[in-house]
Amino acid sequence: MRLSRYFLPVLKENPSEAQIVSHRLMLRAGMIKQAQAGIYSWLPLGFKVLRKLENIVHEEQIRAGHIPMLMPTLQSADLWRESGRYDDYGEEMLRITDRHGRDMLFGPTNEELITDIFRGHVSSYKDLPLTLYHIQWKFRDEIRPRFGVMRGREFLMKDGYNFDLTKEDALHSYNRHLVSYIRTYERMGLQAIPMRADSGPIGGDDTHEFLVLAETGESEVFYDSKVTDIRLGEREINYDSVEQCRAVMEEFTSLYARTDETHDEAVFNQIPEERRRSARGIEVGQIFYFGTKYSDPMGATVQGPDGKPVPVHMGSHGIGVSRLIGAIIEASHDDKGIIWPEGVTPFHCGIVNLKQGDAEADAACDQLYAALTAIGLEPLYDDTNERAGGKFATMDLIGLPWRITVGPRGLKNGVVELTSRKTGESVELSPEEAVKKVAEIYAPHHPHLAREEPMAGRSFHTWL
Ligand code: ATP
Ligand code: MG
Repeated sequence: MRLSRYFLPVLKENPSEAQIVSHRLMLRAGMIKQAQAGIYSWLPLGFKVLRKLENIVHEEQIRAGHIPMLMPTLQSADLWRESGRYDDYGEEMLRITDRHGRDMLFGPTNEELITDIFRGHVSSYKDLPLTLYHIQWKFRDEIRPRFGVMRGREFLMKDGYNFDLTKEDALHSYNRHLVSYIRTYERMGLQAIPMRADSGPIGGDDTHEFLVLAETGESEVFYDSKVTDIRLGEREINYDSVEQCRAVMEEFTSLYARTDETHDEAVFNQIPEERRRSARGIEVGQIFYFGTKYSDPMGATVQGPDGKPVPVHMGSHGIGVSRLIGAIIEASHDDKGIIWPEGVTPFHCGIVNLKQGDAEADAACDQLYAALTAIGLEPLYDDTNERAGGKFATMDLIGLPWRITVGPRGLKNGVVELTSRKTGESVELSPEEAVKKVAEIYAPHHPHLAREEPMAGRSFHTWL
C-alpha cells in the first residue's frame, strides 16, 4: 500500500477522552473512530489487525478440529425464554421489537441458538463429538463502556460450543480448547494465563479465564510467579489425544492462578512468599464446561448406544477478538507508539523515502515495494512529501515491526537501512539483502515464504 493512496487519519494530539494507552494509541494511529459510546467504526488500519487476529483464531480452531459457521446477530426472545435466560440476563441485553410485535434481541452470546441448531439436526450419539464455532459481533449494553475496544458494547467474539455424549468427552473438549487458546494467544505475541474463575451468568462447574497481565486490566488476579515461565511454543499437539491435551491442561493449570472471585487466601499463602503475586489482568478469553445446563431444558438429546435418549454434555468457549487488540497494545508499546508483534502487524514493513521526487530514491523504493509484494509481504510505503521526521513519527506511532529507510546518500553506497521498531537498531544492507532479511523474519508466520511460493491470490478466506 502506498500511504498517499491509503486512509490513515493519524492524530497529532492525544485525544482527551482516552484514559489508557491502548485506547489513546488506537485513536492516534487512526485505527478506530467512536460511533457511539462503546461502539466503534474500524478504520482501515484497525480493520486489518482485526482480520489478522480473526485469521489466527480460525487457523487454530480448525487445527483443533472445530468447525466454522456463522449465526446471526439478532435472535428470537422465545429461545431465551426456553432456557430461562431471557429474564435472568438483565439490562445488559439489548431487546428489540420488530414490526409484528415479536420480541428479539441482539445476541450477547449464543448458547441458545446453537442448541436449537443442534437439536434440529443431530439425533444420534454417532454424530458426536461435535464442536461448532463462529466469529460474530455481540452486543452487551455495558453500564460503563470504557477503555475503547476493551470494554465496548458492540464487540467481536469468537464463541465455540462443544457437544459430547459424556462428561468425560466434554472434558476432553474443554482441554482441547484450552490448548488451542494458548496457542492462539502465543501466535499473537501474548502470554495469556489460564486462571480458575467464576462462571457468572453462563453457569457451569469448570471454567478458566485467560488473562494478560497489565496494570490497566480490570480483573484482580493472584498467581504463583512460576506460571509465567510456561510456554507452549512449537510443540506438536495431537488434538485427538486425550492424554496429550490433558497433560498440557495440567501443566498450565496446576500452579496457583486465580481471579479474585475464586481466590483463596489460605491456599495462596502456601506458595513460597517470593513467588506470590497479586496483579491486574485483561480477560481475553474464557472456557466453560456446563454439562446439561442448556441441553436439559431445551431438549437437546441424542439417541445413546442403548437406544435411550440422553441429554448432551456441552461447553462454551469465547475469545474476545476485538478486546485482544487493546490487550496486545497494552502489552507492547513505548512512548512513541504501538509495537506490533510480527504475527499480527497490519503491514509487514514500512518503506520510508527520505527524498520523495529524487529519481534514484523513488526508483529504489518502487523496486523494494515490488520485491516485497512479489514474495507475498505487504509493505506500507510512505511516498508522501512529508519531511523525514514526520514520516518516522508516523511509522513509530502505527508500530510496524520493521522499517526500510531509503535516501540518496545511502543509495550512493548501494545501501538502505533496516530498522527494528522494538530495539531501534539499524543495519545497512543492499536493497536485495533487506528484502531477504524481512522475508526470513516473517517466514515462521507465513510458511509459504520459506518455500518461496508466492502468496498471490491468497486471501484471508482460505481457511474456510
Ligand atoms: P467481562 O468479565 O470482561 O465483562 P465476560 O466474562 O462477561 O467479560 P465472556 O462471556 O466470558 O465475557 O465473553 C468472552 C470474551 O469476550 C471475554 O473473555 C472478553 O475477552 C470478551 N468480552 C466480553 N465482554 C466484552 C466487552 N464488553 N467488550 C469487549 N470484549 C468483551
Ligand atoms: Mg468471561
